[in-house]
Amino acid sequence: MIDSNANILLIYTGGTIGMIENPVTFALESFDFVHLKNHFPEIDKFNFNVDSIVFEPPIDSSGISPDHWQRLLKMIEDNYDQYDGFVILHGTDTMAFTASALSFMIENLTKPIVLTGAQLPIGKLRTDAKENLITAIEIAADKDNIGQPIVPEVCIFFQNYLLRGNRTVKVNADNFSAFKSFNYPYLAKSGIQIRYERSAILQPNFDKKPRFHYLVDTNIIILKLFPGITPAVVEAILGAPGIKAVILETFGSGNAPKLEWFIDLIRNAVKKGIIIVNVTQCAVGCVEMQRYETGNELLKAGVIGGFDMTLEATLAKLMYLIGHKYEVSEIKVRMRVPLVGELTRPEDRENEKLYF
Ligand code: ASP
Repeated sequence: MIDSNANILLIYTGGTIGMIENPVTFALESFDFVHLKNHFPEIDKFNFNVDSIVFEPPIDSSGISPDHWQRLLKMIEDNYDQYDGFVILHGTDTMAFTASALSFMIENLTKPIVLTGAQLPIGKLRTDAKENLITAIEIAADKDNIGQPIVPEVCIFFQNYLLRGNRTVKVNADNFSAFKSFNYPYLAKSGIQIRYERSAILQPNFDKKPRFHYLVDTNIIILKLFPGITPAVVEAILGAPGIKAVILETFGSGNAPKLEWFIDLIRNAVKKGIIIVNVTQCAVGCVEMQRYETGNELLKAGVIGGFDMTLEATLAKLMYLIGHKYEVSEIKVRMRVPLVGELTRPEDRENEKLYF
C-alpha cells in the first residue's frame, strides 16, 4: 500500500542508466542527472514525493571505492528522518559490492534502501531503466497495513526481482536479467502486482534508531585457487604488506590442494594474526570444511568457513569488522554468524523453491 504522503529520496551515482554514447569513440560515458531526468518524465507522475540528489561527478561503478560508500552513507544518514525510503541509481558492475557494504554499515535499518540501474541507458528505446526505476521507487514507498515499510533492507531490484543486497551477485554482462541471489530466496517478484515474500524479509526493531558505521579497513586480499598455483604466488599474496585478512576462494565445499607447502603457508599466516576466510568458487552452496579431508586440513590450520556468503558480502563484512577494530578472535566469531542476513548455515536452509 503506497500512501500519498510518502517521501522518497533518489540518489544518482552514475552507471549505464544515465550514460550517453561518445560521438567519436561510441563508448558509453557517464552523464549528468538532468539528462536522466529528461528521459524520465514519469518521475513527476508518482502520487507521492520523489526528491533527488546527485553524486558529483557521476561515475562508472567500476570506479567505486569505500570513500564513495561513506559518502552514500552520509547522504542517507543526513536525510534519514525526512524520507520513507531511498533508491540508489548505481552502475551494475559493482552494485552487489555497494549493497553488501551498506548492509553492514547501517545497523538496525528501518527503511528500504533499493539499489537499481540498467543494462541499457535510459535514452535508448529498448532500455530496461524505466521499469527498474519505477518499480524500485514503488518498493521503497510501499508500507504494510500498520504503516511499516515492507522491505526495511538494503536490496537490489532488477528485471522483476527484488533481492537481498548482500546475497546478490552480478552474473550476466549482456542480459537484462543481470543479477542472481543463489543462496537466498528473492524478497519480491514484480509482475502485474509486486508480490513480497514476507517471511524472507528482515524485521528490524522499529522502536530503535539505526546506527551508521563509517569505518572500513581495506587491508584485505583475495586468493583464488587454481590447479597449478605455485608457492611463490601464494607466498606473495599471504605476505602482502599490511594485510589483515585473506578471502580464500576454494573449490567445491571448501577444498584446497593437500600440499604440505600450501598448508604450511596458510598455518603461518594464521599464526601471524591474519584472518583467513574460506568461500567457495561455486555460485551455489556452502563451505563445509569438515566434509572432505582436504577441507579439514584448512580447518586445522585455522581457516574459518564463510558458509554460503558471496565474495562481495565476505569482503564488505571483513572491511566493516576490521575497520571497527574488533579483536581478531571476535572477528572470527562474527564472520560465522549472520549480522544482516548475509549467511545461512546448512542446517537452517529452507524455502528452497524460491531460490534461483
Ligand atoms: N560499467 C557500468 C557501471 O557499472 C555498467 C552498468 O551500469 O551496467 O557503471
